[in-house]
Amino acid sequence: MADSLLIRQYERFRDELDDAYRRVMSSGIFVLGEELSLFESEFATYCGTAYCVGVGNGLDALTLTLEAHGIGASHEVIVPANTFIATLLAVTRAGATVVPVDAIEDTFNIDPDKVSEAITQRTRAIIPVHLFGQPADMTSIHAIAEEHGLAVIEDAAQAHGATFKARRVGSLASAAAFSFYPIKNLGAFGDGGAVTTDDSDVAARVRRLRNYGSGEKYRHDDIGLNSRLDELQAAFLRVKLRHLDQMNAARVRIAQRYDHALGGAEPDLRLPGAHPDAASVWHQYAVRTQERDALQAYLAARSISTIIHYPVPAHLQPAYASNASLISCSRPLPVSKRLADTSLSLPIDAFLQDAEQEAVIHGVRGFLESRVSDHGNQAPLRAAGLS
Ligand SMILES: *Cc1c(COP(=O)(O)O)cnc(C)c1O
Repeated sequence: MADSLLIRQYERFRDELDDAYRRVMSSGIFVLGEELSLFESEFATYCGTAYCVGVGNGLDALTLTLEAHGIGASHEVIVPANTFIATLLAVTRAGATVVPVDAIEDTFNIDPDKVSEAITQRTRAIIPVHLFGQPADMTSIHAIAEEHGLAVIEDAAQAHGATFKARRVGSLASAAAFSFYPIKNLGAFGDGGAVTTDDSDVAARVRRLRNYGSGEKYRHDDIGLNSRLDELQAAFLRVKLRHLDQMNAARVRIAQRYDHALGGAEPDLRLPGAHPDAASVWHQYAVRTQERDALQAYLAARSISTIIHYPVPAHLQPAYASNASLISCSRPLPVSKRLADTSLSLPIDAFLQDAEQEAVIHGVRGFLESRVSDHGNQAPLRAAGLS
């Protein structure tokens, strides 16, 4: 379904995207041109920051942001264990040690209390991830960071347009990393990423690092790499950015619909919880159930495809399990394990049609009903208003 959703997106914005394509093709400029400059200033304005620097992908956005903060060998960086592995890989790529901490079960996001416990003399930064589109608890994270003199870097790869206390992600810390991978809330038609910040030094360093460490031609001040957001992707993103709020609003409506239709079946089915200061843009809508695998199979049999985010916590992936020196994890992380075992992301997308949303609701309710009749237990049925 993900592929067909991206085709729907193209069909919906076809005229504008085709214009963008023709504009770039006939300009003859494909890297570091005007489309990128314009996108950077438009996205900075959107996020509420002074600067935006377009890069090749979200992983590089994170890695270069860490490097621009002077974070590397002998430093520790705190990340949520419950995230896409790129958050951890960036820390490793920058040369620092990954310190995964546990999540708050209800919001899936990093647990500030666990952050405090994980701080050592070597800690330099915290990377809260706004997982599934919901901003992390930035008030608590900033309080801890200030107390210990740590940098805070947002991983905003799943949360373009989400707000915390009415401010957009990207502007909630010293810098933020975004991904424009096609299925993200703001997605390109290929790879892409960006760093947003109010810090002119960080912006200038990322700008050099993405371009061979060069600020002026044939002068190289940093050990950079080649990671630039190309002109075609920048031009496509400018089109999509104009529609982002509307696409996010469609996701919010679907989430509200799921909340309404699937609520009341606890503890058999837990719906995603929210931090009161956070307004999610619903990159994912993840429910939790002890019978996750059975629910997934039940829905698959009805042609409803769901995804597990993430089946194995990032720090337990072979890449880290077999490289113990890259990671410092002295405490068990039971919540992340539980989320890996029980959560299931239901279809949610700006272009998910009404009938498809209905089928999801029907499918999940059908599953709950079938479980109740299997178990002879009427309580969840009554609670869900199904009996
Ligand atoms: C997608 C994603 C990334 C990586 O972005 P890419 O553009 O795929 O490199 C980083 N962090 C999180 C939380 C993501 O979801």
